Amino acid sequence: MHSFRYVDGSLKCEGVDLDSVASEVGTPAYVYSAETIRNNFRRLDAALSPLGDRMICYAMKANSNLSVLNLLAKEGSGFDIVSGGELFRVLKAGGRADRCTFAGVGKTAGDIDFALRQGIYSFNVESEEELERINEVAGKVGLVAPIAVRVNPDVDAPTHKYISTGKSKNKFGIGLDRAAAVYERAESLPHIRIRGLQTHIGSQILKAPPFAEAVRKLTPLVLELKAKHGLEFFSVGGGVGIVYRGALASGDAAWWKGSGEETLELDGERLAPEVYAAEVIDPLKALGLRILFEPGRFIVGNAGVLLTSVLYRKSTPTKNFVIVDAGMNDLIRPALYEGHHEIEPLHQPKDATLEKVDVVGPVCESGDFFAQDREIPVLAPGDRIALMSSGAYGFVMASTYNARPLLPEVLVEGEKATVVRVRQTWDDLIRGEKVPG
Ligand SMILES: *Cc1c(COP(=O)(O)O)cnc(C)c1O
Repeated sequence: MHSFRYVDGSLKCEGVDLDSVASEVGTPAYVYSAETIRNNFRRLDAALSPLGDRMICYAMKANSNLSVLNLLAKEGSGFDIVSGGELFRVLKAGGRADRCTFAGVGKTAGDIDFALRQGIYSFNVESEEELERINEVAGKVGLVAPIAVRVNPDVDAPTHKYISTGKSKNKFGIGLDRAAAVYERAESLPHIRIRGLQTHIGSQILKAPPFAEAVRKLTPLVLELKAKHGLEFFSVGGGVGIVYRGALASGDAAWWKGSGEETLELDGERLAPEVYAAEVIDPLKALGLRILFEPGRFIVGNAGVLLTSVLYRKSTPTKNFVIVDAGMNDLIRPALYEGHHEIEPLHQPKDATLEKVDVVGPVCESGDFFAQDREIPVLAPGDRIALMSSGAYGFVMASTYNARPLLPEVLVEGEKATVVRVRQTWDDLIRGEKVPG
């Protein structure tokens, strides 16, 4: 469920008309729905409530705007962080360090030092060398570091190869065969305290069984480690996928793709939180531990859109191009992992004619496209469109490639739209640079 729909032919986010947001802040711009983020969090948490002791640690790399973090902190969310900078953001947004887990294969001594002093809940250790480093840094600061080992269960989850993490060929985690030895080593280190075990099999997974399979595969090890080292938690990671393809609501009239369904859901290809929960609750309960979840995309993915304007049209003998003012530097998902985003005009055209086009950005790269050979309504220069489901791995992955300033971000809450990040200026682009002389 999300809060974007057509009302009288105009696309709205909650009670706010997206075209008026575009007029206010210009395009391109990201817009997020507070209600959708909150609902996603609450719905997942409710589905998992039979577990009792649990903590959702939002994987903030998906969208780390301070307003988003603040909203989730107020919901009681913890945070899964992957850098010292992300912890800094959590603290600035009013989140608590003791509800943060620290993931990532390349934690620096500086990051570890900062996280230790702030008192994070757990370092999720990705290698034996990292464990030694954490022990060493903790010794220097005179603290004991709480840790979990990220164990790679070697299960295959159907997703794009760039976002699969739970196979033994991936760079993440420690193999099942090594895990017990790493815990032995951890037990012997003076500045390490064993707290849990973590796993994460990948991202954008739309089937529940691989999650349960990972838990079942790890269960004997978890129970053994629990008896030996006194584990307190098990983290099942993130990865619950969202629907990127499908028709959008149109009040009561059927819109150009047809169904009048109010959500972006198609082909039953969707992992509802209740379905996910039904599959994982039993195997997780059997562990008798506090359970952590690290959803990123599920919380924010369908809560954001990227607004962009049509600049030009251009035809070659084989293609029709629609050139828009957003580029791959603003939203890299299509170029990076063939990500699909539905394209919705901010005003439904009267004429329901469709044409097959490539929607491309201004960046000097052939990978700079948002759609290829896609049937969409006929667009003219000046028309504005929304690239749907851009709330996760959108703005956070943006760069200033081609000297294009970073975009503004707007948070909608009911009837109110707040600019929660201003558009960068050209001066921002060169801040910190200098010509020697
Ligand atoms: C990226 C990541 C997540 C979140 O993944 P989503 O697919 O966005 O839910 C959770 N845990 C870890 C360790 C990650 O690296």
